[in-house]
Amino acid sequence: MGFGNFFKDKFEKKNCALCDKECGMMRRSKLRDGEYICDDCGNLCSKYVRLSEFTLDEVKGHIEYMKQQKRLYDEVYSKEGKKTVIPSSVYEEAIEFCDDLGMFRIIYRNNYDRGSKIELFRYDQVASYEQYLIEKPAKEPNKEPEFEECGLKIKLVYGNMIGINMDNKKGLRPHPYIKREIKICFSKEKRSTMQYVKNACGHFDHIFGVHDHETGIFSFSKSKAEKREDAAALGMAAAFGMAFKAAKKGADSFTEEEKAKIEKHLQAVDDAATGGMAVYTRRADEAEAKIK
Ligand SMILES: [Zn+2]
Repeated sequence: MGFGNFFKDKFEKKNCALCDKECGMMRRSKLRDGEYICDDCGNLCSKYVRLSEFTLDEVKGHIEYMKQQKRLYDEVYSKEGKKTVIPSSVYEEAIEFCDDLGMFRIIYRNNYDRGSKIELFRYDQVASYEQYLIEKPAKEPNKEPEFEECGLKIKLVYGNMIGINMDNKKGLRPHPYIKREIKICFSKEKRSTMQYVKNACGHFDHIFGVHDHETGIFSFSKSKAEKREDAAALGMAAAFGMAFKAAKKGADSFTEEEKAKIEKHLQAVDDAATGGMAVYTRRADEAEAKIK
């Protein structure tokens, strides 16, 4: 591209490919296929996508997706399920867990999420999570480094996952649009907020069953993983038992109650096979089904 073209491309006024509004160079984004969209239309997209990676059709699909997420929030998420916000007072950003629906939401201190936009995710979309802490070197020797910010980094499952071990990530689902790492900044002022970051990681550990294979030193009870396996064995046996009955009498002989029982037994088998994530997948599926 010659300088003339470069200049023309940068400074020439363009029309938004979505709303046709004229947009100057400071108020627009260039898409992968060379189209432009204005900032107002760009603001309908998640803050965790890169518009330059999308074609116009992908942007349209993404905006529809965000509208759907907003509906999911308004009609289901905001009305149902117990929520845990960490940190409970929002300094910069916070994470809101809703185990009952198998979803989490990012909350912002500024007005970012007051409009039409909701950043809502499913637990089974999470590929990894970790704490982060940014510090500046101390100005004087022998002093502690200065705190800059801390929070959570979350990677979602995306089609092409390089460098993430997927062996024990059965049952996870790719996010349709977000490839970037999601950074949730808990604080830019207080080092003590790091405790909340650890709490949030602990909540994810619980969801992912990270400590499920451990039992407390003083507890002789079964670990969660063992309990799940027991439930699976029982579920399998019970489901087979009913299958034998069906073979004898035919599947139509099941009452509604029996059908529900079989479903439950098979769910227990499913839960054990996916390390407990299937519970959250089912809850998120049920929540999403309500707005379809
Ligand atoms: Zn526009």
